[in-house]
Amino acid sequence: MTQRIREFLADRRRAGRDTQPCLVVDLDVVRENYLGFAHALPDTRVFYAVKANPAPEVLSLLASLGSCFDTASVVEIEQVLAAGASPDRISFGNTIKKERDIARAFELGVRLFAVDSEVEVDKIARAAPGSKVFCRILCDGEGAEWPLSRKFGCAPEMAPRVLEQAHRLGLSAYGVSFHVGSQQTNPKMWDGALKSAAEIFRELAERGISLQMVNLGGGFPTKYLKNVPAVKAYGNAIFRALSKHFGNRIPETIIEPGRGMVGGAGVIEAEVVLISKKSEAGDEMRWVYLDIGKFNGLAETIDEMIRYPIRTSADGGPTSPCVVAGPTCDSVDVLYEKQPYDLPVSLEIGAKVLIEGTGAYTTTYSAVGFNGFPPLETFVI
Ligand SMILES: *Cc1c(COP(=O)(O)O)cnc(C)c1O
Repeated sequence: MTQRIREFLADRRRAGRDTQPCLVVDLDVVRENYLGFAHALPDTRVFYAVKANPAPEVLSLLASLGSCFDTASVVEIEQVLAAGASPDRISFGNTIKKERDIARAFELGVRLFAVDSEVEVDKIARAAPGSKVFCRILCDGEGAEWPLSRKFGCAPEMAPRVLEQAHRLGLSAYGVSFHVGSQQTNPKMWDGALKSAAEIFRELAERGISLQMVNLGGGFPTKYLKNVPAVKAYGNAIFRALSKHFGNRIPETIIEPGRGMVGGAGVIEAEVVLISKKSEAGDEMRWVYLDIGKFNGLAETIDEMIRYPIRTSADGGPTSPCVVAGPTCDSVDVLYEKQPYDLPVSLEIGAKVLIEGTGAYTTTYSAVGFNGFPPLETFVI
């Protein structure tokens, strides 16, 4: 929580404009985070993962700082171009693309594409001839609080064939990418993926193809309730792993931070709609219903994976465990129940709560008007 956000919210309340929950993003924090990445990984280019928070002000700031961008659709590419970044600073990093979208990206000047299959390589060879491609390999996501599982990437043993196919079709077989899982709290998790990447480099070198780049993905954490290692610890662990597996031939590298860039820059203010119990027994747990839930910003509470810090003006007094739920008439719209959340006993209906670390993956996961609840409004200050 920054002073600027606190003042913004106080003004909004005074003006009586606080009828719906909102996210406030402090650009000063985004700037600090960008510089933190640039410092901790000085030889690495930063490709901000746009889906984490595509607010125009965030994109413009990062473009002006020199960031590159990882995008997943034509709309995201257009948003980045509108923010002032040239197309040579954009990667089309989704491994699942319609051929007409590849063609449109190529028309807009994008020349860097992700793949994880030979058929996707074929599409790129047709729709974006001569472009650079990198092959994403699977990573098990161990140690990550929001693992990305098996949807993206191929087995490392398959990657050489995919890249060889690219080379054969006149594309530039450029490198290897992976993602160690989002909110990755263990900096050592890059080691195994870099070992696989180095093996792919060697195997292609034997076939006369020299790869140049390793895309280290995202995964850098935001501090929620638990402390997380500093970005410098990630930089050091990654550098050690690169030296270990590539020796003195360290390739060009890029990172794609999303959460780590914007998560800590945002705070959501929400309101307590109801506090009730489900039976008259004295020991029944309280249910605290907020005006924000899984469908208007807090989707990452699925399976209670991300536990956000919730602050109230009653903090400091005695607490008791509560079930915390959202406002919609869908019974999955419960945020914390398996592991109840301690909230102050004196918390009252109508009180405001501040949900911290919510700058990433909140507005983008907010449905358009489910049950009439509006999409989460953002203010960037
Ligand atoms: C979402 C995504 C990222 C960002 O991941 P974080 O864990 O938020 O840093 C990076 N790369 C790709 C390809 C992604 O899809």
